[in-house]
Amino acid sequence: GAKRLGRNHSLRFRPALDQQDSPQLALVSDLREALISGDQLELHFQTQHASQSGETVGMEALLRWRHPQQGMISPAHFIPLAERHGLMAELGTWVIEKACAQQAHWRHSGMPALTIWVNISALQLFQGDLEAQLASCLKRYQLSPWQIGLELTESVLLDERAGDMAPRLEALRQQGYQIAIDDFGTGYSSLGYLKRLPVDKIKLDRAFIRELPHDQADAAIVTAVLAMARGMGLEVIAEGVETQQQCQFLIDAGCPIVQGYYFARPQPADELEQRLSAARELL
Ligand code: C2E
Ligand code: MG
Ligand code: MG
Ligand code: MG
Repeated sequence: GAKRLGRNHSLRFRPALDQQDSPQLALVSDLREALISGDQLELHFQTQHASQSGETVGMEALLRWRHPQQGMISPAHFIPLAERHGLMAELGTWVIEKACAQQAHWRHSGMPALTIWVNISALQLFQGDLEAQLASCLKRYQLSPWQIGLELTESVLLDERAGDMAPRLEALRQQGYQIAIDDFGTGYSSLGYLKRLPVDKIKLDRAFIRELPHDQADAAIVTAVLAMARGMGLEVIAEGVETQQQCQFLIDAGCPIVQGYYFARPQPADELEQRLSAARELL
């Protein structure tokens, strides 16, 4: 009697119905709240280095979400979710705003002037008015376009919704923003598009770096991309450099810039600031 009723009761009035049925949707609504409250989201920064000297030449901003119950959730997981559920525009705006605020803070605190590279989702490029958004941020924080670089994945640039992406990228470049193709080599692209797209840099995906210098195919691919980029006047950054051997291969192959755990992990702004100012005091 009472037992049965109790069970039915708990079934019928199960409050977190959607959460139990779809952890994904629960996460989307958590992300919506995170955007409102703002204090669960952070930008971390990973420095980029001249391969030979190790000098810091730039940094990439990487989004972090510290979920109140689940801890750190990878952007590789929640960004696609945000894209699918209409939160990407807002998230992208948050990232640009935060990167600019950080740049302004660093300018006043005497940090070396380095470009912050921001990852841009396809949706920001197709739907939002990226150009106006960037302009308004730069104005508010009194920054110059060279201080913000835009990383677009290869698949974005090949998306046919993009139509002719070249004029839009060219407009951004005309204004002084730098543009990089992220994860280069992982899409199913012909090389012809590289010729048409106005970009400054190629980020060689870490899939090609991981097994250097032993894997002959990867070694050949990396060497060939470097030669091609040189011929086209594009700069190359190798991603995911984890070992001294990988770095040495890249130096020998003539790759000018490297990024990866071998040099630095992504870290919060204040930690990076301490690391860079400690390094300066050593000079
Ligand atoms: P990505 O832009 O290709 O970023 C590089 C990823 O490799 C980062 O992962 C970084 O932490 C990781 N990484 C760096 N060095 C090494 C290394 O030496 N070894 C290994 N194994 N990994 C390394 P993370 O931070 O988890 O970001 C994953 C992806 O999420 C990014 O790939 C990017 O596509 C996306 N993402 C991150 N932040 C944003 C953002 O603000 N906006 C957008 N649209 N996407 C973002
Ligand atoms: Mg990137
Ligand atoms: Mg990348
Ligand atoms: Mg990548």
